[in-house]
Amino acid sequence: MSTAVKPFSSFEMAQSQFDHVAEVLDLDEGACDLLRNPLREFSFAIPTRMDDGTIKIFRGFRVQHNDARGPSKGGLRFHPMETLDMVRALAMWMTWKCAVVDIPLGGGKGGVVCDPHNLSLGEQERICRGFVRQMGRNMGPALDVPAPDVMTSAQHMLWMLDEFEAIHGSHQPGFITGKPVGIGGSQGRTEATGYGVMFTVREALRDLDIRIEGTSASFQGFGNVSQYAVRLYREMGGTPVCVSCWDQRDGTSYAYTKRSGIDVDELLTVTDRFGGINRPEAERLGYKVLPGDDWISQDVDILVPAALENQVTAENVLRVGPRVKVIAEGANGPTSPEADRVIHERGIYMIPDLLANAGGVTCSYFEQVQSNMNFYWDKDEVLGKLDAKMTSAYMSVSDLARKRGIYMREAAYLIAVDRVVRACRDRGWV
Ligand code: NAD
Repeated sequence: MSTAVKPFSSFEMAQSQFDHVAEVLDLDEGACDLLRNPLREFSFAIPTRMDDGTIKIFRGFRVQHNDARGPSKGGLRFHPMETLDMVRALAMWMTWKCAVVDIPLGGGKGGVVCDPHNLSLGEQERICRGFVRQMGRNMGPALDVPAPDVMTSAQHMLWMLDEFEAIHGSHQPGFITGKPVGIGGSQGRTEATGYGVMFTVREALRDLDIRIEGTSASFQGFGNVSQYAVRLYREMGGTPVCVSCWDQRDGTSYAYTKRSGIDVDELLTVTDRFGGINRPEAERLGYKVLPGDDWISQDVDILVPAALENQVTAENVLRVGPRVKVIAEGANGPTSPEADRVIHERGIYMIPDLLANAGGVTCSYFEQVQSNMNFYWDKDEVLGKLDAKMTSAYMSVSDLARKRGIYMREAAYLIAVDRVVRACRDRGWV
C-alpha cells in the first residue's frame, strides 16, 4: 500500500469550491460539466535565444476558462514553479472574479515556467515576444486579454503588445492591460489591486462597527498588491505593523515588523523590484526581522495574505492571533479549504479573494475601455470609479451573506456562478 501524500492541487481546490456552489444552486449536469473545466487550454514551447547564443525552451500555458460574459481576462505569471494545474485554477477564479464585480469579461490566465531573477531583460523580452507568437491567433481585444501578474510588469506587457501589433500590422492597445501610462496604460492600475483590497476592508470594518483608526494589520508579501494595500490602509488611519517577503538569497521568507507602523516609502528604499526586502538594511531602519511565517501570528485585527496561493493552511491556521477579526485575501487562493473551515468556525470575517483582489481586473477593464476608445481618464476619475465598483460588489456580497446567514465566500461564489450560468443559458450553451 502506498503512503505517498497526494500533492496539493489548486485546480482541485477550485473545482471543489465550484462543486459546493453548484449543489446549493442545484445546477444541472450540463452546466456543471461546462463550468468545472476550462473551455480552452493551450500548452506550448517558447524557444528563446539566450544572451550566450544558446537556445532554451521555456514552457508556456494559457487557459480560457469561460467567456460567456465577455472576452477572457487574466494575468500572465513568470514563475519557476508554474504549472498547468495552477493556471487552470487561476483562470476559473478569474471567471468568478469578473462576474462578482459585474464586469463584462470572462476568465483566463497564463504563465511561463521561468525565473526572471536569473534572466536578463533581453531574455525576458524574447520570452514575451515568443509567448505572443505562439498565442497571438487565440488572443486579442475581443478574444482574450492578458495582464501582469506575479513577476511580470508593465514593461513585459508593452513588449507583448509590440509583438502583437507587429503581427497584425495595426495599433491594438486593447490587446493587453497593465501597460505603462502614456502608452495605453490606465492611471491607477498600479494601485488598483491593493487599493481595492482596502476599499473592501473599509466596508467590512463599517459593517462590523469597528473604527479603522484603532486597528492594526499584518500583511504577507511586499509586492504590488501589498505595497499599495499597506499604503492606503495607513492613509485611512490604520497601523500596518508587519509585512513579509521572500528572500531569494537564502531561499526562505522573513517577516518585518515595526509596532509604530510601517512606512511604505521608507521600506521601498531597501526593496527590490520583485518585492524582496534587504534584511540588514531593513534592520538598520529599525525593523525587527522574524521568520517568514510569523506574519500570521501577529497580535493584530486584520490579516492580509497578499503573496501566493495556499499560505494559510491546516498547519498554520491555529497560529492566527486571537484578536484577528478580518482576513482580506489579497492573493489568489491563499487559504486552503481546511483552514477556511477553521476561520469560518472562529467567526473571523473573511473577505474572499474573488472579491477582495478584484480591483486589479476592474481597473484592467477600465484600461481596456479607455484603450478601445483611445481616450484616457485622469487618476481621480479612475480611482473614484474603482471605489464605486468595489463598494457596490462588496455590498451585494455582504447583503446576501447577511440575508442568508452564510459565509462571505459562499455568498460571493453564489452571485458569481449564478451570473455566469445565466450567460451560458441565455446563449444556449447549456
Ligand atoms: P509580486 O510579485 O509583486 O509580489 C509578491 C510578493 O510576495 C513579494 O514581496 C514576494 O517576496 C512575496 N513572497 C513570495 N513568496 C513568499 C513567501 N513564501 N512568503 C512571504 N512572502 C512571499 O506579486 P503581486 O502582484 O503583489 O501578487 C501577489 C498575489 O496577488 C498573487 O497571488 C497574485 O496572483 C495576486 N493578485 C495580483 C494582482 C495584481 O494586480 N498584481 C491582482 C489580483 C491578484
